[in-house]
Amino acid sequence: MARRLRVAVVGAGVGGLAAAARLAHAGFEVDVFEKHAGPGGRCGQLRLGGFTFDTGPTILLMPEVLARTFQAVGEKLEDYLSLSRLHPNYRLHFPDGTGLTLQSDLAALSAELEALVPGSAPGFLRFLALSGQQYRVGLERFVLRNFDGPADFLTPANLWHMLRLRAHQSLAQVARSFLKDERLQAAVTFQAMYLGMSPYRAPAVYGLLPFSEMGVGVYFAKGGLYVLPLGLEKLARTQGARLHYRAEVRRILSCPGAVEGVELSDGTRVSADLVLCNVDLPFAYRTLLDSAHTRLRRPARLHYTSSGYLLYLGLQRPAVGLGHHSVFLGRGYRQSFDDIFQHHRVPEDPSFYVAVPNRTDASLAPPGKDSVYVLVPVPHRHPGLDWAVEGPRLRAKVFARLAQEGFPLEQRIEVERSFTPDDWETSYGLEKGSAFGLSMHLGQVGPFRPRHQDAHLKNLFFVGASTAPGTGLPTVMVSAELAVQRMRAHALQLGAVLRQPAEAPLGVAA
Ligand SMILES: Cc1cc2nc3c(=O)[nH]c(=O)nc-3n(C[C@H](O)[C@H](O)[C@H](O)COP(=O)(O)OP(=O)(O)OC[C@H]3O[C@@H](n4cnc5c(N)ncnc54)[C@H](O)[C@@H]3O)c2cc1C
Repeated sequence: MARRLRVAVVGAGVGGLAAAARLAHAGFEVDVFEKHAGPGGRCGQLRLGGFTFDTGPTILLMPEVLARTFQAVGEKLEDYLSLSRLHPNYRLHFPDGTGLTLQSDLAALSAELEALVPGSAPGFLRFLALSGQQYRVGLERFVLRNFDGPADFLTPANLWHMLRLRAHQSLAQVARSFLKDERLQAAVTFQAMYLGMSPYRAPAVYGLLPFSEMGVGVYFAKGGLYVLPLGLEKLARTQGARLHYRAEVRRILSCPGAVEGVELSDGTRVSADLVLCNVDLPFAYRTLLDSAHTRLRRPARLHYTSSGYLLYLGLQRPAVGLGHHSVFLGRGYRQSFDDIFQHHRVPEDPSFYVAVPNRTDASLAPPGKDSVYVLVPVPHRHPGLDWAVEGPRLRAKVFARLAQEGFPLEQRIEVERSFTPDDWETSYGLEKGSAFGLSMHLGQVGPFRPRHQDAHLKNLFFVGASTAPGTGLPTVMVSAELAVQRMRAHALQLGAVLRQPAEAPLGVAA
């Protein structure tokens, strides 16, 4: 009987775990090495004095994409996670004191739009229709696919779809052509920040995000989003993967042409037939791999996403009127993106996002109290930014704006923690503290993004936000699917006998 091939997975982030479950199901012998004490990586959890916080992701989109990993190994997502769809999605607070509740009930949404900007609803709905096409075609043609090279990506049919979906234009440009009011343009473009990108640089195809929220829905998982990595950990173990926590990998061992295994920080060496690296790809190339055997092409020319300054606040008294998800937009929308992405400075009047997840799941805060999560998009690490100075300054601005909006939270704080771009780099190994990994502009997606399979070390593979298709929980789980496809092909060449995944083939109906 053929020997089972051994895979060492480095990192138990959502990408590493989703891949580990698929690999173990296929028949590989899988060991996952994670430097922290538990799973999840960026999708982590913080418990403080009875308050529970998700540390990174708080918005769950595209549950049908998440479900694929569970289906692949013959299981059901709903047996692992309890998801509920939120109504409404969130409240937007504009700098002029007005607001808009984004929701899937289009009649109620249209009435709100008309009250805010008379005559605006038809343009908004037309934008959503385009967004729906971008969602379906984008997923089928560009996201749920492995590309062998530019010719495979830039086919005549794909180029036609790109033109039709206006992918060559920026998201901000396309929004402007449907909506004259700057507040409404912001309402359908700020979602580019979910990808850590500026809407003035993001291709318009990411207009698919508003549809994914309003058309498909914004979801929440009972217990907080940390239940996703917990569910994936259970799924991987059920398939036979072994998980090793507090097991930091210090080096990926290689010789010319191949990797041989990993070396842990205590000096233990573990041999492997294949290594799958879930550590942020540029960081892994720089710190874990021997540059004599492989290197990342043109690292200085890579573009990175923004970072995030986070506040986790346990409040003694609830912030009445603050819903599950809220977005507070600052003045100078365009300028704020130029500040973050071009000038690497914190915007004067920052926009930020606030979540109060115990509005949906009361178990996340003690009775009569609130767990509040604040995420302020900020530049990735830069020599001009000292977070010991910037952090307190930004914190003061956030509380001032919240108080101005009728939410005086600072006086109610019982427990508090913050997290800066420096922490994202040191805790999770994110290059430049860039919270979402490599940027997803057109020159860095599909075949133009670093490959899942290393060019020189053919048994070294990558999974996660800085690989294709890109950042975000559903996308990273697709990255696991695409990376495992490559690993299967490699293993079959070595003569391995593998089990087929149980899910439907890639792609959704257009
Ligand atoms: C603040 C924030 C908010 C976000 N909000 C959302 C959201 O609302 N919705 C959404 O869908 N997405 C969101 N995202 C994006 C999403 O969190 C990521 O795209 C996704 O979690 C990345 O998963 P990953 O597996 O690629 O990487 P990671 O989570 O980075 O996993 C990599 C793992 O490798 C481990 N590791 C690193 N170095 C080593 C080593 N040397 N040895 C062993 N282990 C190591 C790390 O500890 C980590 O566990 C957010 C991200 C951030 C930071």
